[in-house]
Amino acid sequence: MILVGLTGGIGSGKSTVSQLLASHGAVIVDADAITRQLQAPGQPLLKLIAERFGNDVLDSDGSLLRQKLANQVFGNAEALADLNKIVHPAVGREMARLIDEQRAGDNVVVLDIPLLAENPRSGLSGVIVVDIDPELAVGRLVSQRGMSEQDARSRIERQTSREKRREIADWVIDNGGDLASLESQVKLVWKWMQTLEHAGPDAGNVIPPETSK
Ligand code: ADP
Repeated sequence: MILVGLTGGIGSGKSTVSQLLASHGAVIVDADAITRQLQAPGQPLLKLIAERFGNDVLDSDGSLLRQKLANQVFGNAEALADLNKIVHPAVGREMARLIDEQRAGDNVVVLDIPLLAENPRSGLSGVIVVDIDPELAVGRLVSQRGMSEQDARSRIERQTSREKRREIADWVIDNGGDLASLESQVKLVWKWMQTLEHAGPDAGNVIPPETSK
């Protein structure tokens, strides 16, 4: 397995890059998609969330009311820590399981993690960062994803800086251009990815904060 980390700020185009890489043949392990799957109606994780935050966060069909949950944890460090304690281990286990499934094979596996710069992983074959001017990201989030400008700005502000993210990159994709430019850059990065060394036995593990400095 070649294991490549993929990250980028919200609105950078990371999901678009991930889809393009999948179309070239990469296997995608997507932290956000796994989180959504584990929070689908009937999943054990939802029961734990409802036990802590009340049945109000569930709709009548059992689906998670994300905005209600977000309202409870916004600006409340203790509630957010509790939510993370419930969600992160389950997502981490599922990601580890999917990586393990690929470990002995020859696939190029993409670990798609929004907060990779904040939570580094060991032994990756390489790291791709999708880079964009934050102003352009705000524009795309507002015009194409229907976010309010204020929401887009505050989400970007809460993330690590563009510079910090670029520091962990072995390859930077500049998504300041049009989709055709993005597609041609992904073609190049896909070629590069296939030249990388296979990942070691510990590849993909979370590096504990005290040793990652
Ligand atoms: P992320 O996953 O990083 O939050 P997305 O891949 O969802 O970002 O991209 C944000 C929005 O911008 C999406 O609607 C996407 O279709 C659009 N987009 C991505 N790259 C480009 C581009 N180069 N030109 C125009 N729109 C783009």
